[in-house]
Amino acid sequence: MEILWAILVLLGLGLLLGLGLAIATKFFYVKEDERIEEVAKRLPNYNCGSCGYAGCKAMAEAIISGKEENLKKCKPGKEEANFKPIMEYLEEHPNADGSKVKVHL
Ligand code: SF4
Repeated sequence: MEILWAILVLLGLGLLLGLGLAIATKFFYVKEDERIEEVAKRLPNYNCGSCGYAGCKAMAEAIISGKEENLKKCKPGKEEANFKPIMEYLEEHPNADGSKVKVHL
């Protein structure tokens, strides 16, 4: 009988904590700028870190936030395959206030 109670208590705790996590996810959800994912897709995605960022997604975040303008910091990136598509994408997808994301080679 004691083992049944232990199982029920653990199941109850699991359900309660799972519900708490589900609610927290709903309330604390932060919508990410979809341009970050689009820029990251156009980077080489080696996640080598030679740009000085933790990986391609971190570099994309820096570009979109305006902290990084120099695309050539991505050493394995190629002008035709990576940088030009990023520049074209950013040209067509300005910031919410209409200003352009500044990047250069
Ligand atoms: S250098 Fe380029 S490929 Fe390497 S992590 Fe940075 S953005 Fe990604």
